[in-house]
Amino acid sequence: VLCVSQSFDFFYFVQQWPGSYCDTAKSCCYPTTGKPAADFGVHGLWPNYKDGSYPSNCDPDSPFDQSQISDLKSSMQESWPTLACPSGDGTTFWSHEWEKHGTCSESNLDQHAYFKTALSLKKQVDLLQILQNAGIHPDGGSYSLESIKDAIKEAAGYTPWIQCNNDQSGNSQLYQIYLCVDTSGSNLIQCPVFPKGKCDSQIEFPTF
Ligand code: 5GP
Ligand code: 5GP
Ligand code: 5GP
Repeated sequence: VLCVSQSFDFFYFVQQWPGSYCDTAKSCCYPTTGKPAADFGVHGLWPNYKDGSYPSNCDPDSPFDQSQISDLKSSMQESWPTLACPSGDGTTFWSHEWEKHGTCSESNLDQHAYFKTALSLKKQVDLLQILQNAGIHPDGGSYSLESIKDAIKEAAGYTPWIQCNNDQSGNSQLYQIYLCVDTSGSNLIQCPVFPKGKCDSQIEFPTF
């Protein structure tokens, strides 16, 4: 039986802080549509296995097709902006995410459903609001990793994973926040496995 769909165990829903993507030696480029809001943006919705490994590029016969998500485009530009150089309108980023990750959950979510699901998840968990409510602001200050994790755990109900990167001086900063989602894409779940990587115990939350 020919079957391109692969099963997976859960999704990582990954959001990035634009200030940290830009505050690196490599720097960044604002989208052609203008500087994004000072808010977390979607990076991706990534099918994963509970042993920590993950499938990728599951269906070469399902290329990214903009026409399937034309109704979502303005929301995508707002909530899923690209910051890579050279500047683009997001199409390259979304296409990469669909082809590498989205095609691996195609049995559950078609292209329109995949992007719509990620946009809904972002609305469901307002990370910036959650952090600000806990007194954690993107002000260039330093915050404990535990306080960031606790604030999200309290508000979202599940322990997130924090990924850090380094600014040009080598300071550890809040780069991406991972939450786990069931295979339907609708419900947050406890992460079956966490990614790897290191943050300092105190990390910067840069402005954007
Ligand atoms: P990095 O090595 O920069 O953390 O990740 C590079 C890319 O590999 C990510 O953008 C993502 O596409 C993929 N990736 C990294 N870690 C994971 C993971 O734990 N699960 C999945 N599904 N993809 C990952
Ligand atoms: P990943 O493979 O890590 O899921 O996706 C990263 C790819 O998307 C890289 O090729 C990167 O250049 C591209 N990309 C485009 N815009 C962005 C962005 O705003 N953030 C990140 N992390 N990657 C982006
Ligand atoms: P524990 O969860 O046992 O307190 O943490 C064990 C180690 O993992 C510590 O070094 C801690 O800094 C690190 N750690 C805990 N949570 C995270 C996280 O969300 N992201 C990263 N990168 N490291 C973490």
